[in-house]
Amino acid sequence: MQEAREIRGLDLDREGRCRHYHLPVDVLALYCATCQAYYACYQCHAALADHDFTLIQKDQKGALLCGVCRTSFDQETYRALGHCPRCQAAFNPACQRHAGLYFASEKEKNHNGGVRFNER
Ligand SMILES: [Zn+2]
Ligand SMILES: [Zn+2]
Ligand SMILES: [Zn+2]
Repeated sequence: MQEAREIRGLDLDREGRCRHYHLPVDVLALYCATCQAYYACYQCHAALADHDFTLIQKDQKGALLCGVCRTSFDQETYRALGHCPRCQAAFNPACQRHAGLYFASEKEKNHNGGVRFNER
């Protein structure tokens, strides 16, 4: 049996929801390669760590963690299913729009499309 996987973050509940994201579907945790730990969200990481979130490589296993059953899986699985492969917990579809924040491969892709700045 694997040891329990810890999720770091602010005001976490038992399933890994944090101060910033606390809908029923916000149970997905992200792995920071520098911390070698899972965080509830990138804002939690910014509050707790003294470095930028370190993007995980696309082929790295265990990039994501289900807060409900603490099963880790990779990005491909997440994209293909949209829910936990073990307990079927649904994940927030909005998270996929933030993929560039979390996944190095997405960031590179976006590079070609140019950078967009928000107007006031
Ligand atoms: Zn970190
Ligand atoms: Zn958070
Ligand atoms: Zn699960």
